[in-house]
Amino acid sequence: MGARKIMLLAAATALLTLGLTPVARARSANVAALQVAMKAVGLYGGSIDGVRGPGTRRAVRRFQRRHRLAVDGVAGPVTRRALGRRGRPRLGHRVIRRGHRGWDVAGLQFLLGRRGHSPGSIDGGFGRGTLGAVRSFQRAAGLVADGVVGPATLRALRRGGGRREGGHNGGGPVVFLRPLPGPITDGFGVRWGRMHTGIDFPAPTGTRVAAAGRGVVSFAGYNTGGYGNLVIVKHRLGFETWYAHLSTETSYVGEPVVGGTRVGLVGSTGHSTGPHLHFEVRHNGTPIDPMPRLLATAAGASSRLVPSVGPPLAPACDRQGLHTSRRPDRAHWPSRVC
Ligand SMILES: [Zn+2]
Repeated sequence: MGARKIMLLAAATALLTLGLTPVARARSANVAALQVAMKAVGLYGGSIDGVRGPGTRRAVRRFQRRHRLAVDGVAGPVTRRALGRRGRPRLGHRVIRRGHRGWDVAGLQFLLGRRGHSPGSIDGGFGRGTLGAVRSFQRAAGLVADGVVGPATLRALRRGGGRREGGHNGGGPVVFLRPLPGPITDGFGVRWGRMHTGIDFPAPTGTRVAAAGRGVVSFAGYNTGGYGNLVIVKHRLGFETWYAHLSTETSYVGEPVVGGTRVGLVGSTGHSTGPHLHFEVRHNGTPIDPMPRLLATAAGASSRLVPSVGPPLAPACDRQGLHTSRRPDRAHWPSRVC
């Protein structure tokens, strides 16, 4: 067996023993935990980014040399044991709560940050900042906000940036990424005596609109009732997301999408006073308030953190209240001026 083959085998074995899958998500949280541990022992000065780069590998090699372990730069079981309480327990091996310390807490903090609920610092200690972040994530994900991280919370967290929001697979609450970064100027509910069936994101014409989660495009075309150019994505468990007033739809009926897939560009078609995205979440055909299911993170390549509510960018919104309609091609339009 050549040296190269042996190295490959060693790397594969290390991945297996660490319980890592090739899925970036799982690897990221564990690598972040490893970075936190290496930082704590003074061997790593880089950022806690969950990326197993040269800096992280170098730190592990130095740690292994210092502890007279086999030097391979991979944090296998022996290396993690040598890290003491910083190297355990693995994420998901206990219910995590305030006061806990260790590998799993660091991984948890990393996942929270990636989902837009910053714990303040990623240091492997579950303090007040982490507690606040867990509760805020749980509220956003429709879970009981008890600040205790059991299997349901962990599942929802892991499902996150893995682009499976609103997905057909996997259990847990259905949550959505924001279709674009930026503030929301008009919320869901009764305004001026009329029902606003979605939320409005003012944005310049041509801004990329991304699917809020995994699903299949069920409508892409012009709606004469007021939505203008409209895309509808069907998600699991009877959920739909609607993207209205687009300048262009860039998706087609039957197209499978994930959180971040471009479905169209912002415009001002239909009953609209200016460029903005009217975004709706419907459950079994009925528009519901998207906010409790909306994550702080915007879908798309940058996954930027965005403020939940901000000052108006432009006075753009729907010219008339968008009214409940079970058919995208037939809408009823009560008048309302914003
Ligand atoms: Zn609207």
